Amino acid sequence: MTPSAPLVYWFRSDLRLRDNPAWVQACALNQPLLAAVFEPHMASTEQRWGSLRPGPHRLAWWHANVRALQLELARHGVTLLVLRGNVVEVLQTVANKVGATAIHCEEIAAPYERAEVQALRNAGFQLHTQWSSTLFVEQELPFAVDELPAVFSQFRNLVERAHTPVPTPLEAPQRVCGFSVPSEIAAAFAPWAAIPPAEQLSVDIRSAFVWGEDTGSAVRAGNEGALAYLDAYFSSNRAAQYKATRNGLIGMAYSSKWSPWLAVGSVSAREIFDALRTYEQRQGANDGSYWLWFELLWREYFRWLHKQYGEALYRGRGLSEATRPVVAIKHQRAFAHWTQGRTGCELVDAGMRELAESGYSSNRMRQILASYWIYDLGGDWRAGAAWFEANLLDYDVYSNQGNWLYIAGLGTDPRGGRKFNVAKQAADHDADGQYRNLWSASP
Ligand SMILES: Cc1cc2nc3c(=O)[nH]c(=O)nc-3n(C[C@H](O)[C@H](O)[C@H](O)COP(=O)(O)OP(=O)(O)OC[C@H]3O[C@@H](n4cnc5c(N)ncnc54)[C@H](O)[C@@H]3O)c2cc1C
Repeated sequence: MTPSAPLVYWFRSDLRLRDNPAWVQACALNQPLLAAVFEPHMASTEQRWGSLRPGPHRLAWWHANVRALQLELARHGVTLLVLRGNVVEVLQTVANKVGATAIHCEEIAAPYERAEVQALRNAGFQLHTQWSSTLFVEQELPFAVDELPAVFSQFRNLVERAHTPVPTPLEAPQRVCGFSVPSEIAAAFAPWAAIPPAEQLSVDIRSAFVWGEDTGSAVRAGNEGALAYLDAYFSSNRAAQYKATRNGLIGMAYSSKWSPWLAVGSVSAREIFDALRTYEQRQGANDGSYWLWFELLWREYFRWLHKQYGEALYRGRGLSEATRPVVAIKHQRAFAHWTQGRTGCELVDAGMRELAESGYSSNRMRQILASYWIYDLGGDWRAGAAWFEANLLDYDVYSNQGNWLYIAGLGTDPRGGRKFNVAKQAADHDADGQYRNLWSASP
C-alpha cells in the first residue's frame, strides 16, 4: 500500500457515524478513508421468484438516508461514493485506481452478505468486519450463541434474569481522516448523479409511515432525523400506549415506526434503547415501554439466530427435518394474484396494496399476509419473503427471514407455524372496514 493509499469503509446496513463500532474502528487507524455504499439489490435474486427489484419506496427511503449520511461525512471531509453493480468488480475498479487493499465494514450474518465478504477476500482484499447491529455483545450473553434457546421467551427470560448489559452508544469519532477522491474517480462514480431526488417519489398520504418535506411531515431520514423523531416520540404518550395500540393498522401512532431507520442502520438499536431508558427514568416504566423492549428483543433474537444457524435458515425446509418440494412454479398464478392484491380476499388484497403503494405494512398485516400466502394459497414461504424484501422500506434481512420462518413453522419454535384466520382477523382488527376501504383501490 502506498503511504497515501486509503482504507475503504464500505457502509452496508449501518448508515450512521454515531454508535457504529466498525466505523469507530476504521477511524481509529488514522489513515485516509474512502467511503463507499452500494445501492440496494435483491439478495434473494433466485429467478424462480421472478425478477424482483427493490421497489420505489425502499429505494427512496434508502437514498434519503444515504444523502443525510453524505452530508455528515462531508463535514469531516469524506466523500461518499454511491456505487451500483457487482460489489467485487466495482470495488476492485475503485481500489485499483487509489491503491486501496483493505476494506472495513459491518459483519452481516446472512448467506448472501457473507458470500460478498468472502468474494472480496478471494479477490485479494483484507476485510475487517465488525458485528454492529445488536443490543448485546456476544461475550456478555448468558449462553453460547450455539446454545441460543429455541424458544423466544426462554431467550428473553435468560437475558432479563442475567441483566445482560446493553453498552452505551459510542460517540461519532471527531477525528476522521478524509481521502481526497481523485476527480476522475469522483466523476466515474458520480456520488449523487444516480440518486433520484426524494420529491420524485410521492409518499402516499394513506401510508402509516409518512416522511419527507414534501408531505408536510416532520419525519426525516438520517441519524439526526431519527434522533429528532425519538425525541418527539418520547415527548408524547405513544410509548405508554404502545401495548394497547400496537395491533393497529392505520396511521403513524399505533406503533413506534422505528424500523425504517433501524433497517438502514441510520440509528442503532442501542441509541433507541438509550432513549427508551431515559424515558423510563423520567416518566417511570409502564406496560407500553416494557412491550417496546420486548419487541426489540424479538429483533435481537433473530440476529443471534442467524449467527447460530446461518445458511440453514434459507433452505426451503428451514430448520425442519422434512423435505419440502419447491412449489413456486405450480403457484405462479397464485403469486401474481397475491402480489397484485387480487386474491379476492378483501383484507389480504388491501394489505398487499398498502405494501406495494406505501412500502410499509403493520406487524399485524405482515402476519396475515404471510400466513395467507403460506397456508391459504399454499405458496413457498421464500417467495413471500422475497416479495417483502423487494417492497418493505424497512426491509431487514434478519427480521424478515426470521418472521417468515416463524410463521411457516420452519424455525426453532417447537409449536409449529402460525396460521391466521383472516375472517377473525378482519373482525378483530378492522371490524368497521376502515382499513379495507382505505386501501380498496389506488388513490
Ligand atoms: C412476515 C414478516 C416480515 C417482517 N419483515 C420485517 C423486516 O423486513 N424488517 C423489520 O424491521 N421487521 C420486519 N418484521 C417485524 C415487524 O413487523 C416490524 O419490525 C414492525 O412492524 C415495524 O414497525 P414498528 O417499528 O412500528 O414496530 P413496533 O411494533 O413499534 O416495534 C418496535 C421495534 O421492535 C422490533 N420488532 C417489532 N416486532 C418485531 C418482530 N416481529 N420481529 C423483529 N423485530 C420486531 C422492530 O425493530 C421495531 O421497530 C416482519 C414481520 C413479519 C410478520
